[in-house]
Amino acid sequence: MLILGAGFAGLELATRLSESADDLRITLVDRSETFYFGYSKLDVLFGRKTRDEVVLHYGDISKPGVEFRQEQVTSIEPESRRVTTDQQSYEADILVVALGADYDYAATPGFEAAGFEYYSLAGAERMRDALPEFESGRILIGILGHPYKCPPAPFEGALLLHDYLVQRGIRAAAEIRVIGPMSAPVPITKGVSESILDALATREIEYVGTEHITRLDAGSNEVQLESGRSLPYDLFVGIPVHRVPEVVRASGLAPEGWIPVERTNLATRFPDVYAIGDVAGAPTAKAGVFAESAAAVVADDIVARLRGNAPPPPWEGAGSCYIEFGGGAVGKVQANFLGGPQPTAELIGPSPELAAEKAAFGATRRARWFGS
Ligand SMILES: Cc1cc2nc3c(=O)[nH]c(=O)nc-3n(C[C@H](O)[C@H](O)[C@H](O)COP(=O)(O)OP(=O)(O)OC[C@H]3O[C@@H](n4cnc5c(N)ncnc54)[C@H](O)[C@@H]3O)c2cc1C
Repeated sequence: MLILGAGFAGLELATRLSESADDLRITLVDRSETFYFGYSKLDVLFGRKTRDEVVLHYGDISKPGVEFRQEQVTSIEPESRRVTTDQQSYEADILVVALGADYDYAATPGFEAAGFEYYSLAGAERMRDALPEFESGRILIGILGHPYKCPPAPFEGALLLHDYLVQRGIRAAAEIRVIGPMSAPVPITKGVSESILDALATREIEYVGTEHITRLDAGSNEVQLESGRSLPYDLFVGIPVHRVPEVVRASGLAPEGWIPVERTNLATRFPDVYAIGDVAGAPTAKAGVFAESAAAVVADDIVARLRGNAPPPPWEGAGSCYIEFGGGAVGKVQANFLGGPQPTAELIGPSPELAAEKAAFGATRRARWFGS
């Protein structure tokens, strides 16, 4: 059994299978030496933690039946479940692709040269180092494509930037604006979108929806929009265009952008090949909590098949995403994409109690996956 990618999805799947099937030999492959939670980038961006404080080492994984290998996947042949890495080849009985989403910086001309981002750890560090130089002007947070990871994260970034500028005593000298292709911050739910828009408005942050940024013009400090308009900025922060990793694109697994999967059990059209997490074209948001719940269903599906048992109940695409509102308060968006006729989501909080709950969320995963 081969799992490609040791992010939220791969780590949870390996852990579940190790717990429930002691006769399985699981190889977990990732090119990195370390894992970090998506939201840790906000901790690094605002100087609350260093890189060393947020990374977890795959070398610490010690689970019966699980072997971690640090290798770069270079090709995937889904029909034969043959996988090649920079070090060897595998023929898997069961293959699970959990390689996440990559960022396509070049899809937005001018972005790499003139913009900042906090969707990668390196980007968060670079922006952290640049922020002290900002004294006044227009901050534009641009969502450059859809879908993207963690739908509330651009708004979370705006709310935390507001706090940061207030603390420095320069908020009145700055404008903050978020611009994106969606009509509302979280389009599946009017209520949650309105709560986020209210939180933005209270802090004099504007959301400009249904606009697509085509490029940045560093000479004039403007972004060009598909609608023909342009918008000025002094500091541009982009949420990059997301894509499947190149090795997945080249495999033919994702002919229309993301890997199509059965919504009940995340199976692909290739026998004994599943896709979970951000890489899958599932009708949910791209977030760790949904990657984790998908991993749970796939683990149950694999074990049921191995034992000849009935398949598990269908995946509901349910989970809670935390969103920092600043001032130490955290809200929780509880979503269920597939359990009913329509996706549902509601916002709980924000409150300081939910900040503690978010910390516990990270701590339990850290203990469960890394034993620390
Ligand atoms: C700023 C920010 C805040 C966020 N906040 C939250 C939050 O509060 N809650 C939440 O649930 N989610 C949050 N997310 C989203 C969350 O981080 C992702 O949705 C989640 O990590 C997806 O899990 P995954 O396993 O699909 O992919 P990843 O966690 O991205 O894992 C994919 C793995 O595949 C590996 N890989 C890729 N290509 C190769 C290759 N060729 N060879 C070998 N290995 C490879 C990568 O190294 C990586 O470890 C946030 C994201 C960001 C950016």
